[in-house]
Amino acid sequence: MAIDFTLPPDVLEARTRVREFMENKVAPAEARMRTEGGWRKGYAALREEAKAAGLWAPHMPTEWGGMGLGPLAMAFVSAECGRTQLGAYVLNCHAPDEGNMHTLLHFATKEQGEKYLRPLVDGKVRSCFAMTEPEVAGSDPTGIRTHAERDGDHWVINGHKWFISGARGATFAIVIARTDPDADPPQARNTAFIVDIDAPGFNIVRDVETMAGHGNHCEIRFENVRVPDGAILGGRGQGHRLGQVRLGPARLAHCMRWIGNAELALEMLVKRALDRPLHGGVLADKQLIQAKMAESAMELYAAKLMVLHAAYLIEKGKPFRQEVSMAKHHVANMLWRITDRAIQVHGALGYSTDSPLEKMLRHARSARLVDGADEVHLSQIALNVMNAVREDGSTRRATGFELL
Ligand SMILES: Cc1cc2nc3c(=O)[nH]c(=O)nc-3n(C[C@H](O)[C@H](O)[C@H](O)COP(=O)(O)OP(=O)(O)OC[C@H]3O[C@@H](n4cnc5c(N)ncnc54)[C@H](O)[C@@H]3O)c2cc1C
Repeated sequence: MAIDFTLPPDVLEARTRVREFMENKVAPAEARMRTEGGWRKGYAALREEAKAAGLWAPHMPTEWGGMGLGPLAMAFVSAECGRTQLGAYVLNCHAPDEGNMHTLLHFATKEQGEKYLRPLVDGKVRSCFAMTEPEVAGSDPTGIRTHAERDGDHWVINGHKWFISGARGATFAIVIARTDPDADPPQARNTAFIVDIDAPGFNIVRDVETMAGHGNHCEIRFENVRVPDGAILGGRGQGHRLGQVRLGPARLAHCMRWIGNAELALEMLVKRALDRPLHGGVLADKQLIQAKMAESAMELYAAKLMVLHAAYLIEKGKPFRQEVSMAKHHVANMLWRITDRAIQVHGALGYSTDSPLEKMLRHARSARLVDGADEVHLSQIALNVMNAVREDGSTRRATGFELL
């Protein structure tokens, strides 16, 4: 039987509605705000419009007030969001809140759900996810030093985190802390806690300045922060598992938005090449420039197929880690290459701040670090390939075997 690539009508409908909303409402409002300012008020109004249009929290179940879309439909919706600056925020499906909503939906008790998830889905509060630390490698969460000590029916958290996106202005954080230093396997050492940001001892030190400017990626010190037993999310020693469950779909959600960013960069590349006169023709006549277009188009196409397949696996409840790793690595690097090519084709303009491309490139650089650095994914992918050959004598199950 042939594979049917026709999109289901509900997915098509969601994509069309989000595309029209982004093109007719969000993009023009952002263009206006870029010249006139008024970002805070502008985004608040856009969020109200999105809610009224039934385009709110697309990734959340309808009983929680969302659109109830699965990962496959979200691939299309997020790519549309990625074509604007903060389209995902307008629909309330931006990082890290989107990943935190999934995490709470999966792990929260009824009480935690009502207290934290409900206002998050309603867009009344924001949240953050605190795992990475300056002193130890973020690529190895078993080394986390932030620790929680038991004190009666409470826990006392001490430690140091950084690059905690969205911390300033958030109401609560999901914090990964070591509770069982001697646990075997080491993956059982950490526990996730929901911590209110106004808790005494939760001290935001600074917003770390990055090559893309201030992005509300904060350094935080936990100084004797007391939380009750009921603040544990997903069970004691389950911090690593929670991170894994969270990171699969959250990684893919990043990829989906990056596809929208890359589409935009490629469109700018092509438009510039078609419009730039030289040697009695235009830049687009040159085969070296056409090669950049063709390579970018192929990489973008492969990215879309990889993301869709990984989303399909998640939606069907099948193993997805290898495919998500491959998609994440490919999409992050594809975004970097296409944005870089677009700058090249724009010449000096691309390098200047007159064009949005230099900013897009600075933002794109983080894609190769967040949610697993390139090398972490490459070594995991290679390990799975070796295991497949050792155990099956074939690479099939480590190279998207569901496809063939
Ligand atoms: C913009 C931005 C936003 C972020 N937001 C958050 C957030 O909200 N919450 C949060 O907890 N964290 C966040 N992070 C942190 C991010 O998750 C970490 O940067 C990432 O996990 C890598 O950890 P590290 O920076 O400690 O690098 P390290 O773990 O020290 O790794 C440094 C480098 O070593 C190499 N490396 C690592 N492992 C291997 C390996 N197995 N084999 C070969 N080479 C390897 C890679 O080149 C890697 O880049 C954010 C980071 C950025 C840049």
